[in-house]
Amino acid sequence: MTATTESSPATTYDDLLAAITDPEGREILDPATGELVGRVHESTVEELERALARAREEQAEWAAVPDAERCALLHRAADAIEANAAALAELLSREQGKPVHHGPNAMFEVGGAAAWMRAAASLPLEPETVFDDESGTAVLTYDPIGVVGAIGPWNWPMMISVWQIAPALRMGNTVVLKPSEYTPLSVLGLVHVLNQVLPEGLVTVVPGGREIGEALSKHSGVDKLTFTGSTATGKAIMRSAADTLTRLTLELGGNDAGIVLPDADPRAIAEGLFWGAFINTGQTCAALKRLYVHEDVYDAVCESLTEVAAAMPMGEGRDERNVLGPLQNRSQFEIVADLVEKAKAGGGRVLLGGDPAADQPGHFYPTTLVADLDDDNPLVTEEQFGPALPIVKYSSVDEAVRMANRLDVGLGASVWGSDTDRAREVAVRIQAGTVWINKHGAIDPRMPFGGIKGSGFGVEFGDWGEARGHGRGLRVFQWCVRHTIV
Ligand code: NAD
Repeated sequence: MTATTESSPATTYDDLLAAITDPEGREILDPATGELVGRVHESTVEELERALARAREEQAEWAAVPDAERCALLHRAADAIEANAAALAELLSREQGKPVHHGPNAMFEVGGAAAWMRAAASLPLEPETVFDDESGTAVLTYDPIGVVGAIGPWNWPMMISVWQIAPALRMGNTVVLKPSEYTPLSVLGLVHVLNQVLPEGLVTVVPGGREIGEALSKHSGVDKLTFTGSTATGKAIMRSAADTLTRLTLELGGNDAGIVLPDADPRAIAEGLFWGAFINTGQTCAALKRLYVHEDVYDAVCESLTEVAAAMPMGEGRDERNVLGPLQNRSQFEIVADLVEKAKAGGGRVLLGGDPAADQPGHFYPTTLVADLDDDNPLVTEEQFGPALPIVKYSSVDEAVRMANRLDVGLGASVWGSDTDRAREVAVRIQAGTVWINKHGAIDPRMPFGGIKGSGFGVEFGDWGEARGHGRGLRVFQWCVRHTIV
């Protein structure tokens, strides 16, 4: 196992692309323009087998590296991401569609990837003494689990890859990662940069589609699988992993509710509501996906939110004016368009958008707000994962809480109001992995993150995600200081 000692030089976009693209590979097109971004080599099952065998070979040696050295290497990996941020952000923007600079977009995602790498490297993970008294002493330690298989989505491909890679490496595991077939170049680019400083063979990317994901999830050479994606795929992965009893962390889909209380200030919360719902053009797991507004402030919230949303430019990602980009792929565009048509048919009042341009080269769906919807309209009950927010009026807080809780998913949720104590009383009644007050989707590496119900199980971040999520399980050492036990 060898790690380079020099700091990584900054790569240009062209050099980065040249390092990861395969002239014979499958075409990857820019979702904003339809132009060719690059070509990806798709792994065969034999290549996956070799990657897993290599990961197994390297793992014991990596686990034997002292924790402080592993942390130092992860910090250097974060340095490498930062040094190459411009090239990585351009690649991400061209492949995923998000604008490079403005708003929480490509540079933000690359910065987040570095920050999460550092968070994993900075976490104190000392053995924990659970008790030490006259009955004896019990200590918990955390050990690596072995080879971690990771399968990811296309919405935040670089940041989510780091969420999967960083805690696994910190604990002394090795990783074989299958990126989404829609955004493989972003993950190959990121891992190319990481591998400038990490020892060889710790992280291997196996691009491919569902068949490579399936092969990875049922492989006996994988000790733990970490999956981020849709609930339907999460269930398929759980079935695949059953025979080998492979441990799972499942970060799945959501349909996050936001409840605006009667005492909220519509103007003050409008921008927060907008970014909660439309971050990454709505293609975010923990985005606000259905908004419940009390009748006292309903008209004013609709008006303020429409004003903010109408002023947010959408377009091609290298144009510095844009803060929103296209949908990443055509099938997601069709899902959003279909749900908006159903909302119109169900009596929804379109406040903004809802009319995509015909014959455009990219997958742009305009920022859309649909008010006056019934709570059982498909735009409310299904995950749109795009820039179309349904707004539902309510008259009592009990009714709003019931509507927020009635779906079989529970990733995030939010409550908006001027009296934060009152908002907290409502927040504790909502069934979701995280409930925010007066913001939405503010995922933080210091806090555990994960869903309940159909949004998955297991958490990421902090020692909850790191040691417990990527460890073999707790090992208990218990001893007695006396020779007689009563
Ligand atoms: P997806 O489930 O379609 O695909 C995710 C990955 O699974 C891809 O790499 C895909 O190739 C792979 N895959 C597909 N079928 C498989 C199978 N049978 N076995 C193994 N792997 C298989 O999800 P997506 O469309 O890429 O992502 C969008 C979804 O992800 C949304 O529902 C979103 O809410 C969710 N998501 C959740 C989180 C979270 O942290 N909870 C984060 C981001 C996205």
